[in-house]
Amino acid sequence: MKNIELINIAEQFGTPIYVYDSDKIKSQFFRLKNAFKSIHNLRINYAVKASPNISILKFLNNLGAGLDTVSIQEVELGLKAGFNPKKIIFTPNGINIEELEEASKKNIQINIDNLSVLEQFGSKYPDCPVCIRINPHIMAGGNNNISVGHIDSKFGISIHQIPHLLRIVNNTKMKINGIHMHTGSDILDIDVFLNASEILFSAAKEFKNLEFIDFGSGFKVPYKKGDLETNIEELGKKLSSRFTDFCKDYGKKLDLYFEPGKFLISEAGFFLTRVNSIKQTTSTVFAQINSGFNHLLRPMFYGSYHEILNLSNPKGNERFYSVVGYICETDTFASNRKIPEIKENDILAFKNAGAYCYSMSNNYNSRYRPAEILWYNNKANLIRKQEDFNDLISNQVILNF
Ligand SMILES: *Cc1c(COP(=O)(O)O)cnc(C)c1O
Repeated sequence: MKNIELINIAEQFGTPIYVYDSDKIKSQFFRLKNAFKSIHNLRINYAVKASPNISILKFLNNLGAGLDTVSIQEVELGLKAGFNPKKIIFTPNGINIEELEEASKKNIQINIDNLSVLEQFGSKYPDCPVCIRINPHIMAGGNNNISVGHIDSKFGISIHQIPHLLRIVNNTKMKINGIHMHTGSDILDIDVFLNASEILFSAAKEFKNLEFIDFGSGFKVPYKKGDLETNIEELGKKLSSRFTDFCKDYGKKLDLYFEPGKFLISEAGFFLTRVNSIKQTTSTVFAQINSGFNHLLRPMFYGSYHEILNLSNPKGNERFYSVVGYICETDTFASNRKIPEIKENDILAFKNAGAYCYSMSNNYNSRYRPAEILWYNNKANLIRKQEDFNDLISNQVILNF
């Protein structure tokens, strides 16, 4: 999207506001599809938790995507967006069995990551096909909050527990139709991914009635200049040929699934804010914007870097700023950041604001969650209104003292 289009949106709809460029979502979707073009039964399941707006889900449904969901509410959002339940996979962790039962009654593909739950579910519903989430114990990179494949991780069934898993499957006569891994966000190294895939292939051989193998996600996208990103094209070449060979050995053409969130939508998103004030202190210059970690948590939660553009003065002399919010809490978006000179009322845009940004927003300090815009057909379409005071109090039960 062009700067002028973003400025117009900020003028027309106000700030703070999230904007998603549907052309970028589409090009990322087809980039992944093309990388695996030799695989005819490829399924790209968008990870709803990255950005769960129903209009975005509908857009992805039209492209041919399926969904990866982690709660029954995300399943409901997918159904509301018109997805065929067969194209929704449910990969929760730490939930109770009733939530799994609810999803399976809606014909959603269940993915189980816990032996105790597997045994309970298999004993009760031996005819309901189930996918299993394996933890291959491969570190995919990234920090500890977003790596989920290591030995102490709570995610998945350890690869070392396969004998126990097989015993449950044999005893209950349940059907395993898929095998899954998700080694966490931020895969830097293709070889790490391929090593984990080999572990998954060797586990897959133990199950005779598979229909698909799900390689999860964790593809890395660049957040700043010089960042490494997953070379999807190279991964596509290497994994496709290995997958095709595996299917020959296995004696059946399986479907290949991925479930990217970040890869599809991170770079499509912009978060637009306005500068409330400039504050000089003894040590720095603060640019204080009309937002905080209530709207964009990633810099404070993960130490994530989001590039910041000054849309109002893109060619100005660069100076060093600490960009902070208006929340009564330390909410630093960036410190010692070189940005073209900022004045009060300037519009600052955060890049890579598509994934895990709006979806992690909250009402701290009783602020409203922002509006969302989908840029589609060269037009700004409002896909979520900003909250108002009624949203803050609608569930409060006010006592009459
Ligand atoms: C979050 C999640 C994803 C998506 O991860 P990204 O890093 O956004 O691509 C995929 N699968 C599962 C099971 C997840 O929990």
